[in-house]
Amino acid sequence: MSQQIPTSQKVAIVASSGARVQIKDHPVKSPEQLAPGECLLKMHCTGVCHTDLHAAMGDWPVKPMTPLIGGHEGVGTVVAIGKNTERSPIKIGDRVGVKWIADSCRDCEQCRKGHEQNCENIKISGYTVDGTFSQYLVSYVHSVTPIPEGIESEAAASILCAGVTVYRALKYSETSPGDWVVLPGAGGGLGHLAVQYARYMGLRVIAIDGGEEKRELCKALGAEQWIDFTQCKDIVAEVKRLTDGRGAHAAVVTTASSSGYTQAIDYLRDNGHLMAVGLPAKATLDASIFFTVFKSITIHGSYVGNRQDAVEAINIAASGAVKCHYKMRKLSEIDQVYDDLAKGKIAGRVVLSME
Ligand SMILES: [Zn+2]
Ligand SMILES: [Zn+2]
Repeated sequence: MSQQIPTSQKVAIVASSGARVQIKDHPVKSPEQLAPGECLLKMHCTGVCHTDLHAAMGDWPVKPMTPLIGGHEGVGTVVAIGKNTERSPIKIGDRVGVKWIADSCRDCEQCRKGHEQNCENIKISGYTVDGTFSQYLVSYVHSVTPIPEGIESEAAASILCAGVTVYRALKYSETSPGDWVVLPGAGGGLGHLAVQYARYMGLRVIAIDGGEEKRELCKALGAEQWIDFTQCKDIVAEVKRLTDGRGAHAAVVTTASSSGYTQAIDYLRDNGHLMAVGLPAKATLDASIFFTVFKSITIHGSYVGNRQDAVEAINIAASGAVKCHYKMRKLSEIDQVYDDLAKGKIAGRVVLSME
């Protein structure tokens, strides 16, 4: 087996925060060097996420390592497992996914409570450990996500970040079938997946975005109501009008601007849930304390998802109920993809083949 694993590979690497991303030769860790619990993956493809841009720029309050190999939504095949690995849930030849949470200790307080995203000893893909913008990647047998048959690797890639993130936010929104959920940015990379997961859960969707193309996409995916923010003068009033004056039960807000969050406090009904999902570098939440209390609103920061959330999100997608809209590019084109992403020129998601 090990003869087939090369000693060198191509990776996309950022030398220092803010530097341009470059394609470079990089050593492949040999199977003999893998620690117990580690596995080596031959990558098939990887999605590109807005978070990868923040990681490359180093503009978040929590700093990434440099030099940095980014990427955190990839699919590959297991080609080696570290010697003396105990109770591996995966075997050589399995197809698995790598998500933002590369590995957690499973022993700290947060891990014991199932909050692996907040593990004290966390390893983050493409941030604190090497990410998926590489042809071979060292990952962790207890943390990779098994990819079921029935879903292509390319279609699974973005479920591992965008999909898991919106799925978990909806899952913890304390909504029931028939409840109204508002999805600002519903036509975007996270939003179009959120519409589908919400429909799968039996929720009634109010999609907010701009333009005819996004309206058609949201409607085709099952959004019951549509608000075009470029034309609607009063989004709060419109949400209330669409919900018999009572407001929505939940909102999953993925946008970077603070206005999307403050509006939600106003258009949610009593005991509504504001699920905050976006990770803007600087924006603050300017909510009315009076109405947050008076309306018994819950503001819930929902950060990606744990291993179980990932398994659920990928299985729902593999059943055919949720489909990611993506365009294929090549790893060697990543510099251009970053440019397009920074300029907001990418609709849906981009998935890279490993060439
Ligand atoms: Zn991401
Ligand atoms: Zn932990």
